[in-house]
Amino acid sequence: MIIRLLMICSTNDYKKDELERLKNVLRDNGYPEHIIKKGIREGEIVTKNIIKKQQQPTQTNAQIPAPTKKRTMFFTLSYYGHESDILAERLKKISRKLLPTIQLNIAFRKTMTLKAIFLPLQKGKDESRSTMKLVYKIPCKDCNISYIGETGRQLTTRMNEHQKDIRKNTLTSAVAQHANSKSHSFDFDKVEKLAYESGWRKRTIKESLYTQFAYGTCSLSNGGCDGNATCSIGQGNVVVCTCNPGYVGNGTTCQGICSLSNGGCDGNATCSIGQGNVVVCTCNPGYVGNGTTCQAYFRFWHCVQNNMMGAVLATSANTVAKSDIEGATVVKSLTTTAELHTPPLIYPC
Ligand SMILES: [Zn+2]
Repeated sequence: MIIRLLMICSTNDYKKDELERLKNVLRDNGYPEHIIKKGIREGEIVTKNIIKKQQQPTQTNAQIPAPTKKRTMFFTLSYYGHESDILAERLKKISRKLLPTIQLNIAFRKTMTLKAIFLPLQKGKDESRSTMKLVYKIPCKDCNISYIGETGRQLTTRMNEHQKDIRKNTLTSAVAQHANSKSHSFDFDKVEKLAYESGWRKRTIKESLYTQFAYGTCSLSNGGCDGNATCSIGQGNVVVCTCNPGYVGNGTTCQGICSLSNGGCDGNATCSIGQGNVVVCTCNPGYVGNGTTCQAYFRFWHCVQNNMMGAVLATSANTVAKSDIEGATVVKSLTTTAELHTPPLIYPC
C-alpha cells in the first residue's frame, strides 16, 4: 500500500496527506505505532529502488514484478473442536479485510501428540521454538484485559524488560502505563505463548490478528469496559476504558456520579448532571439552600378571624399563595402568636 501510494502521488504535499490518512487507517485497525513506522520506512526504500530501476535505460517497466500475487501465510492453531473451526473462520475473515494481499492458510495442530509426550525436545530447534520468536499474551490480574506483544528474542528477556518498564513507569510502555495508571498488576507467571513465527513481518501480522481477534478490540463486549464507558485502543494495542461523562470509576466499572453519596448534594436535594457534565444539586420542594446544604423552610400563617395558627413546609422560598397553606400538611401547630415569625403570613380565612 505504501509503495503504491509513494509511486502514484505526484506532489510531496499530496504524498504527505495520503501517508497521514494511511497511518490513521492502520492505527484505527489496531496496528502498533512501531510497525506502521517501520512499514513506511521499508516502503520508502523499496520505492526508491523501483524508481532507480525505472530510470536505467536498459530496463523496461515490464520487468518490474507485478505486486498482485498473493503471499501465503501459514497459521497454526491448537484444535479443540468446533470452537477452533469458528476461530479459524473469524481469523480468515479479519485477514481478508485487513490484509488483502495475504492468503491466510490455517492448519490445526493436535493438542497432544505422541511425539510431544514421548520424545524429548530436539536440542536447538524445538527449544528455540518454545522460548523465542513468539507472539505472547500477558494477562492483567485485576481486570480482563491482556497485553499482546511479539518478540524475536528470548521471551524471558522481553518479560524482564516489561517488568523493568513497570518499575520505572516508562511512558512509552503500554504495559507500564496500564499497570501504574490503574494500580493493576500483570500476571507474569501466566504469560501465554500464542504463536511461533521466525519472520519478523509475519510475526507482527500474527500479533495484530490476535489483537484484533480477541483482546484489543472494542467490538467484543465493549472491550471488557463498563456499559457506561467508552472503549478505545491505546498504545501497544491495549484496550483503554474511559467512564462516560457523568460517571466515575476505573473504566471497567463506572458508577453514575449521582449514585455515589448523592453526588455530594444534600440528603434533601436532587442530584442531576447538567451542561458540561457538572453535578447540579437542587433542593427538594419545601427546602431551601444551595443544593449542597438544604434546610426545611416553613411558612407561618395566622388566621385572625378563627384565631388559628400554624406552619407548613413551603413549596418555594419566594412565593406565597393561599394554595401553599390550603394544599399543604400542617407541620407545626402554634398555640401563641409569639411563635409566629415576623411578619407572619396572614391567611385570608
Ligand atoms: Zn488491568
